[in-house]
Amino acid sequence: MMKKTRLWKKVLVGMVLGILTGHFLGEDAVYLKPIGTVFLNLIKMVIVPLIFFSILNGISSLKDTSTFGRLGLKALLIYGFTTIFAVLIGLVFANIFQPGMGSELTLSMDSVENNTKQLTVSNILLDIVPSNPIKAMAEGNILQVVMFSFFTGTALIMIGEKGKKVRDLITSATSLVFKMIELVIQLTPYGVFAMMAWVVGQYGFSFMASLGKFALVFVGALVVQYVLFGVMLLVFAKLNPLPFYKKMFESQSLAFATASSKATLATAMRALQERMGVSQQSASFILPLGASMNMDATAIYLGMCCVFFAQIVGMTLSFADYGVIILTSTIGSIGAAGFPGGGMIMMGMVLSSVGLPIEGASLIIGIDRFLDMLRTSINITGDCTVTVIVDRLEKNLDTKIYYKNDKI
Ligand code: ASP
Repeated sequence: MMKKTRLWKKVLVGMVLGILTGHFLGEDAVYLKPIGTVFLNLIKMVIVPLIFFSILNGISSLKDTSTFGRLGLKALLIYGFTTIFAVLIGLVFANIFQPGMGSELTLSMDSVENNTKQLTVSNILLDIVPSNPIKAMAEGNILQVVMFSFFTGTALIMIGEKGKKVRDLITSATSLVFKMIELVIQLTPYGVFAMMAWVVGQYGFSFMASLGKFALVFVGALVVQYVLFGVMLLVFAKLNPLPFYKKMFESQSLAFATASSKATLATAMRALQERMGVSQQSASFILPLGASMNMDATAIYLGMCCVFFAQIVGMTLSFADYGVIILTSTIGSIGAAGFPGGGMIMMGMVLSSVGLPIEGASLIIGIDRFLDMLRTSINITGDCTVTVIVDRLEKNLDTKIYYKNDKI
């Protein structure tokens, strides 16, 4: 009988072959992009139903609104803690290593995407509540879909017995959506192959080398954040982080290849439940919340870019400026959509909040894709860390599965 190859190994092979193919084909690798696009479309096809039903399913499995409130509060507090800590790491790294000092870069006045200009702190917050939930779903506005699911779920708990039929429907719809996702996930190695070939073919290796000091400092900050996740697991959840790191690999490679938290959500959800012993309640409720609003690496990036651009234009940031950067980077990372370049769109808001020219974003836009791939891998790792911690605090985590040396 043929031994079934583990999915993560196939993903790894897909990634390596993709890089090599992209390198040899160069710009011609663009012909492989449609494969990646079809794969991403398949994921996108199931993402709105997944979020809607899994959150509803998670909430409706809670006994009452107070459990829901307690779980949600814990998750939000830990998510908030990791995000603010992330911005601080970014700011400290940018100040110690000063990537913008002595830089030959100058700020050009080419404008970045127009929509960077219209974003303000208040309209990001106001935009969380959808005036039309169907429109939010049709447009794939994840934060709004999450909000609508929470609202529906809360009301469903409140009607108690009268909601039984709807709850049954939700349970079976959730199984259906999970099956669809399982089918799509099998295609990951091919999707990763095509996306990697395209990225390397399009940008080449040289652009990675030309990233310079900024990228190095950014990567350094990400490493600290990555280690911090392990420390959090150890301290708050009293778990050895090594199985976590190992079992995250598959989701991280998908995040890396697609640069989209949204596209990685389903794979991560499955890994949490099936390989790390996280309860369905937490995986289906806390993870989507994190994937839509907790982006630690994006927070690091926004804060660090601000200091970087300030160093380039020779502007001294005051204590108050740092306060504003922490606030706007946190909100920017919450509002950022989990797709490629989602964080970049928030850059204008953060820069303009301390009076830096938003054209600064144009300096970094050329290398953003690669940094985005790294960001997304860290973002999804952060979401999973918090989900594991909350599940453990709730005493739901199955440690046997968590520590099991599995064969996936
Ligand atoms: N692409 C990132 C994500 O999906 C967001 C970002 O651009 O920072 O998590």
